[in-house]
Amino acid sequence: MKSYFRKEIDAIAGYTPGEQPKVANLIKLNTNENPYPPSPEVLKVLRNFDPARLRRYPDPTADALRDLFAVSVNMQRDNVIIGNGSDDLLTMIFRAFTSPELPVAVFEPTYSLYPVLAAMQGAPVIKILLDQNTFAYPADAVKQAGNANLLIITRPNAPTGNCADKELVKEICANFDGIVLIDEAYSDFASDNCAEFAAEFDNVLVMRTFSKGSSMAGLRLGYAFGSKVLISGLMKLKDSYNVDMLSQELAKANFQDAAYRKECSEKIIADREKLAADLTELGFNVVPSQANFLFAAPPDGDGAGCFAALREEAVIVRYFPGEVTGKYLRITIGTPEENARLLEVLKKRFA
Ligand SMILES: *Cc1c(COP(=O)(O)O)cnc(C)c1O
Repeated sequence: MKSYFRKEIDAIAGYTPGEQPKVANLIKLNTNENPYPPSPEVLKVLRNFDPARLRRYPDPTADALRDLFAVSVNMQRDNVIIGNGSDDLLTMIFRAFTSPELPVAVFEPTYSLYPVLAAMQGAPVIKILLDQNTFAYPADAVKQAGNANLLIITRPNAPTGNCADKELVKEICANFDGIVLIDEAYSDFASDNCAEFAAEFDNVLVMRTFSKGSSMAGLRLGYAFGSKVLISGLMKLKDSYNVDMLSQELAKANFQDAAYRKECSEKIIADREKLAADLTELGFNVVPSQANFLFAAPPDGDGAGCFAALREEAVIVRYFPGEVTGKYLRITIGTPEENARLLEVLKKRFA
């Protein structure tokens, strides 16, 4: 049968999410989920929720949540938009700012969903290479971004875990003639963030998700904030009821328990530093991380081999084929027990 799809759709392979295998006793360290459950407040809301309420549509703009997020970053409701996961926001942002005439610039390596979304738009992707050994950011990023209309800074970066220097990010925001999207999916685990640039610069959007630091990847909730002009433009592209009623309520309960989330993040950060030290001792080359995962190259530089050996032992991590990334594994920080099991398997191979 002839294809009736747009040529852009026929040309793309589609995004491959990390696997969600159904194996008993699996140690799952492959998709940067939080090893701890969300706040106990979430269970209370769930228990008391009256299903009869589901007859009605949810608040289309999730204003109660927008207000909470706005206050947390010293902005107003009209500066915030809610997404069904931050992937939903990324879809809106690519539709809004990229096209065959409007390229997007990304750093390489970075989140592998961006090029897929660009391809759906038929938008060219300008790749700005990070240092091949340290993954440091080049000082001339704005120049390299050329005529891009959208520039994405993932901070902390995925899959490498390091952060672009905050001064450099500020300089990019001030000098890039286009939209700067700062994807802060992992900012709960970092020593600082760039929230203030969303208020300082009209062309900057900062985006966050509940999937990593808030232990709610299954819920699907993200938000972005920036100037009112940018947010009201994005609102035009939003599915009318993109975040369901239950998600809005559960997210609210979780977000309000900031102390609990902080406690979980602090445990993960401490365990990240411990695992980094242990892997270094085994001969791994570990990129200093500000996220809830480590990007680490095994001593023999054979990421694929190490990935397969771990999988044999029911420990699943993430492997990204490629000349540079293929030397590494991306390892999500799990519970102390999970991290210990990972280390045990690696010791058999390298100690
Ligand atoms: C996980 C992740 C997201 C997507 O988060 P969801 O809210 O689950 O859609 C976006 N950007 C980066 C860099 C991520 O790692």
